[in-house]
Amino acid sequence: MWGGRTGALLRVWGLWPAGVRGRRPLGCNAASLAGNNSPQCWNCGGPGVPKRGDGFFCPQCRALQPPDLTRDYFSLMDCNRAFAVDTAKLQNRYQQLQRLVHPDFFSQRSQTEKDFSEKHATLVNDAYKTLLAPLSRGLYLLKLHGVEIAEGTDYAMDQQFLMEIMEINEKLAEAQSEAAMKEIESIVRAKQKELSDNVSKAFEQDDFEKAKEILTKMRYFSNVEEKIKLKKIPL
Ligand SMILES: [Zn+2]
Repeated sequence: MWGGRTGALLRVWGLWPAGVRGRRPLGCNAASLAGNNSPQCWNCGGPGVPKRGDGFFCPQCRALQPPDLTRDYFSLMDCNRAFAVDTAKLQNRYQQLQRLVHPDFFSQRSQTEKDFSEKHATLVNDAYKTLLAPLSRGLYLLKLHGVEIAEGTDYAMDQQFLMEIMEINEKLAEAQSEAAMKEIESIVRAKQKELSDNVSKAFEQDDFEKAKEILTKMRYFSNVEEKIKLKKIPL
């Protein structure tokens, strides 16, 4: 699920230089447009566009620069690269970035800047959502450390855990009242909190195998949460 979404995004990013190429001839700035490795401004060619920080705009002509796709979400959202994230700070940063790059502010600007603002906004939204939810944040952090969880459940789960999940799923299937649903919800919420605390500790100790095992469990509970949501929707 997570890998697919990122893959789709990368495909979108992979497409955009072609779109730019269609509107304007390739100039000497094309390389910096595509790779964003050069600090040169795409618009005026001026130097001094900071690679890091919030130098989204050229200091000389104020043109919006393309997003730096080499920057990871933690850096973009001004968070420490750790599982423990200050969500209030994350929210503030999200709002701050939205005020900088929201496409509404670029309606009177050049097409290139409109395109860039769309890409910035997509990136900022994705970074925010990924870092906000513990499961996606953990999976992302794991990936930054070079560890990925395969889509299929080929990870050996212990029998006790699988029984626990089965029992919760049965309870959910049988639940007929709001009280019964609430009970299941509170069980799942408590479990996710416990797992979230444990995965935080695993990351603190750089124990990525442990983190991977706990995140796999969190994904099972996340699936249960999805089922709860679906069951709540009146048919
Ligand atoms: Zn410029």
